[in-house]
Amino acid sequence: MVRRRVVIIGGGVAGTAAFAALARAGVDVQVDIVDPLAAGAGPAFGVGDAALLCNTSVDLMSLLPGLPADFHESLRARGVPAGREEFAPRREFARYLREVYETWAGRPGMSHRRVSRRALAVRPLGPGEGYRVVLDDGSGLTASDVLVCLGWGPPRVPDGLRDRPGIVTSPFPEERMLESVRPSGRVLVLGTRLSAIDAALLLTRHGHRVTLASPSGALPAVRTRTVRGAARIDPAEVHALDPADPRLTRRILDLVTRTLGTAPTCADASIGTLERLRSEVELARRGQVGWQDVLVELVDLANPILVRRDQDARRRVLRACEPLTRYLGSFPLCNAERLLGLLDTGQVKVRAGTPRRLDGPSPFWRVQWPDGRSEHFDGVVCATGFTGRPLRVRSGVLTLPKAHDASPVAGAPPELDADLRLRVDGRSERIWLLGVSSGVRMPFVNAVHHATDQAEAFTRAFAET
Ligand SMILES: Cc1cc2nc3c(=O)[nH]c(=O)nc-3n(C[C@H](O)[C@H](O)[C@H](O)COP(=O)(O)OP(=O)(O)OC[C@H]3O[C@@H](n4cnc5c(N)ncnc54)[C@H](O)[C@@H]3O)c2cc1C
Repeated sequence: MVRRRVVIIGGGVAGTAAFAALARAGVDVQVDIVDPLAAGAGPAFGVGDAALLCNTSVDLMSLLPGLPADFHESLRARGVPAGREEFAPRREFARYLREVYETWAGRPGMSHRRVSRRALAVRPLGPGEGYRVVLDDGSGLTASDVLVCLGWGPPRVPDGLRDRPGIVTSPFPEERMLESVRPSGRVLVLGTRLSAIDAALLLTRHGHRVTLASPSGALPAVRTRTVRGAARIDPAEVHALDPADPRLTRRILDLVTRTLGTAPTCADASIGTLERLRSEVELARRGQVGWQDVLVELVDLANPILVRRDQDARRRVLRACEPLTRYLGSFPLCNAERLLGLLDTGQVKVRAGTPRRLDGPSPFWRVQWPDGRSEHFDGVVCATGFTGRPLRVRSGVLTLPKAHDASPVAGAPPELDADLRLRVDGRSERIWLLGVSSGVRMPFVNAVHHATDQAEAFTRAFAET
């Protein structure tokens, strides 16, 4: 029998989790990973500053399915003090990812190559013949099975700012951001979510004063942990939610309340950003953040249900969950306390509204706000999220986006089966999309544990065939 050959495109979180899962399962297979970056060097975790923290607890970040304490044990072995519910520095997770990769790549008998290139396309070779993964140097790799784990694309930059000289398009890598602002400057950070808060914490430590601005001016909620199993929801209650129900948001909130046994304690937006943060910090200090456990459980139950529903149902549910966005993407209490201190001293300000005009950068940036007032800044940083990596299928060929290009090439968006296999002309290919790339089918995918779960499910199915 011909030995199977898996090519993993993208050796970040999902790719490494799948690689380790295949190696641990002891399946007789050659595994190649294609990625221009080294393991752990991606934009999320490939950061240097220990102040940049994960926003999920250590216990939720194991790359080895079934061994939730694996990341914690790795931290302990390296003498990094972090409890299982705490939020570790992101650079420690990058080290852990590298360690997991190297451990399994170095196993005797492991048949593996890491190819430091970008993949451009996956071409079928003919019925039952497998695929050719086309690389950016014109060469290719043959595969019986392909995993596509591309993660997020380049930073999302507000309209009109992408090609403006002097604009910092992302807070990461943080050295580039810090070098681009003159000492003790005033910096405008566009965004008020997690990356924007990271930017504010770093910039203020380097003596800058920071204004965070977004259309809503809303900060994320504050949490103390993200762990599994701390809240129990009856799966039947989640199955019973109807995506077409016009009161779906209300039904979800009722379910949260029933699970908690009381209405969730949340600070009201009407008291203003600063007081809301102060109040949420206080609630978190007192442990009155039961919603955080319920949301982990709810998403864990919703993903496998929604992956089996149609696109319309998934869209409706995501829309109904919009009021929960600031809770799903909440930030660690320790960072919230730091930010609150900076807001109290005036070193950081938060503004609702985005610039109507932005002129500059020499000698400085002049910003005109929607209320007509104008302000000067020494630097402008975009912390407005990341773009997707639009994949396309044409004549049976799966085309991947080029480097730093978020615009899709010609072809149809990929269709996935419920087990995340690519479906072309009504046939399931031996091509799986995992991690962020699976977002075309799975609604909640932006966390390490979602990618690890998928890697486990893939490996189980692979080992059985
Ligand atoms: C700033 C930030 C902080 C985050 N913090 C957390 C956190 O604390 N906890 C948490 O659970 N989640 C966090 N996330 C989300 C987490 O990063 C993702 O859930 C996870 O990385 C998804 O894994 P992935 O494999 O899909 O993508 P990635 O881990 O990003 O890996 C994608 C890989 O694909 C490679 N690649 C892309 N295109 C190609 C190509 N054409 N050919 C070859 N290789 C290619 C890239 O170089 C990269 O290495 C964070 C995300 C960001 C952006």
